[in-house]
Amino acid sequence: MFFLPAALPKSLTAKYLVILVTTFAVQESHALLARLFRLKSLSSLLLSQIDCAMLPRIYEKSPAELVQWCQEQGLPTYRAGQIQQQIFPNRATQFGEMTNLPAKLRELLAATFTLLPSEVVAHQIAKDRTEKLLLQLHDGSLVECVLMREDDRRTICISTQVGCGMGCVFCASGLLGLKRNLTTGEILEQVLRLDRLLPADEKLTNVVVMGMGEPLANLKNLLPALDRLTADDGLGLGARRITVSTVGLPEKIRELAQTGHQFNLAVSLHAPEAELRTKLVPVNKNIGIEAVLEAADDYFAITGRRVSYEYVLLGGINDLPEHARQLGHLLKSRIAHVNLIPMNGVKELPFAEPSAPQTGEFVAILESFGVPVTVRKRKGADIDAACGQLRMKREQQNLVVLKAGPQP
Ligand code: SF4
Repeated sequence: MFFLPAALPKSLTAKYLVILVTTFAVQESHALLARLFRLKSLSSLLLSQIDCAMLPRIYEKSPAELVQWCQEQGLPTYRAGQIQQQIFPNRATQFGEMTNLPAKLRELLAATFTLLPSEVVAHQIAKDRTEKLLLQLHDGSLVECVLMREDDRRTICISTQVGCGMGCVFCASGLLGLKRNLTTGEILEQVLRLDRLLPADEKLTNVVVMGMGEPLANLKNLLPALDRLTADDGLGLGARRITVSTVGLPEKIRELAQTGHQFNLAVSLHAPEAELRTKLVPVNKNIGIEAVLEAADDYFAITGRRVSYEYVLLGGINDLPEHARQLGHLLKSRIAHVNLIPMNGVKELPFAEPSAPQTGEFVAILESFGVPVTVRKRKGADIDAACGQLRMKREQQNLVVLKAGPQP
């Protein structure tokens, strides 16, 4: 039910009406909007004033749904494939660029859908050419995503939630708690925007789902997005080039395994025993390390993919030789790989980077157990590259602006 406020000035009343009609049309029936489009005189009044952020992203529709939409518009079904091609390999940034489509269809698409509706509120480029985008979504939420270049690899790191509810004590993303899950379209928009930062002769080679949020807590929206990345009429990436990280939600790990895709699984362990892990990753209290490892073992058994264990090295806290030995015992009989991540300094967090000799000793001990180990290179060291850091900085700036605003 909509109510029209009595006291609105005339100009605002007209705007309010447009918003009401648009909201109704978008929420209740996009088909209605398409019909309005055909009524040219009415559509010219309405469509010129539509707030594009309220329209759905076109890639929220699955390929099958896009075919169906074309049929509903009386269009040949091959148009759906042409549209997909423009969204994914051709990297169109607006519907007007889709010149393989008739002008009328481009107008209809622009009146019905959006392509890249988020606002880029920050774009940082590091000396090593790592690029980080901070996107503002329609509700003001901020999400981060990163493009990393290394030799012939072009890897992106994307977010799945606004904030995070897992509360890992060393993570900037978790500091502000969980705000909400990202939609499939919001997840995909990060990919499309980062892909469009590459020159025409370069392609994305790898995707890591390790940005803000716990990906498996938003599996419902993540899986359709990953489907589009692996589909031939999407980005055509092999599932083995996609890594999904998790703090370790056992049932969700098994659900991911059952999808039949060979995604890489990265389990964020961060400690080799329960008490320390619960201090660093509070959600561990209700799960326990054994349950996480058993689910990871099941993942390997079902998919055949070796599981990676992520381990943030916090100077003096979890990087001691005894921790390395405990971790070695845990993993020596498993087909596993350890990624050591030296802590990225975040000034709001009371953790020190590990020393190089300490890290070297940690590696040597793990290797003595026969556990393969890699120390992750730090990318984008001169920008706010730690996950959630840029968003947090922006939120703090907004807070300062609000606090400094006019006083009553
Ligand atoms: S490390 Fe990952 S799971 Fe933990 S709080 Fe940060 S974003 Fe969430």
